[in-house]
Amino acid sequence: MADIVLDIRGLNKSFGALKATENISLDLRPGEIHALIGPNGAGKSTLIHQIAGTLKPDSGDISFLGQPVGHLGVAARARLGLGRSFQVSSLAPEFSALRNVMLAVQSRQSSSFRFFRPVKKDPTLVDPAMAALERVGLAGRAGVAAAELSHGERRQLEIAIALALGSRAFLLDEPMAGMGPEGSRQLTEFLDGLRSEAPILLVEHDMDAVFALADRISVLVYGRIIASGTVEEIRNDPEVRRAYLGDSE
Ligand code: ADP
Ligand code: MG
Repeated sequence: MADIVLDIRGLNKSFGALKATENISLDLRPGEIHALIGPNGAGKSTLIHQIAGTLKPDSGDISFLGQPVGHLGVAARARLGLGRSFQVSSLAPEFSALRNVMLAVQSRQSSSFRFFRPVKKDPTLVDPAMAALERVGLAGRAGVAAAELSHGERRQLEIAIALALGSRAFLLDEPMAGMGPEGSRQLTEFLDGLRSEAPILLVEHDMDAVFALADRISVLVYGRIIASGTVEEIRNDPEVRRAYLGDSE
């Protein structure tokens, strides 16, 4: 496996006079959770959008598994296994968890090989969909409508879908948003295990979760990375404390 899964070099993006992303370089390595933290408006989501391909950088390079992807659109990056972020949910709420994953599996298969088999029983859809639900610990909830799942379970379902679609890295933009303490605790535990499936670039405000999960943390302020390091290094960095952590402790 490549030593570096995702490699961002010198990324710049302005909105008019506002430099939302200024010369950002960072990487994501196999098996790790790299957390991206920073105050509101720092440019975290703008950066995630550029990596996923929903927003075009002004300059800079993005490589995924050793291959330049900056010129590719969202769909092409997704096919390589990159670029699913979960700030906006894409679930069909009335469908069961299993059906939601089956739709993802189906979208990956070539339509020319599809016959008039009832979708519900098609083993080429059901089996990989169940396998993905098992990988995220949701197999026992396969028959439950997405709308009936808890907030945390919906996150797990979204990740099952991403796995079924062949994701090889996760871009998660504030997955804990809107969750209570128990939901956050469960999702933290889940993400902890998920890193062995695929590394995670994690944007998150919940600092308990970040400190519990991150192998590395990069701190973004006004579009620039002001520090990058281990949890201990970031906790003890005077500039980070002043710019970001100081106001919450
Ligand atoms: P974060 O996710 O860290 O809270 P964002 O990436 O959403 O920050 O926003 C970074 C800055 O860029 C903010 O000042 C925001 O208002 C601005 N911004 C984001 N998207 C756009 C856009 N499409 N057009 C103009 N300004 C934008
Ligand atoms: Mg954001």
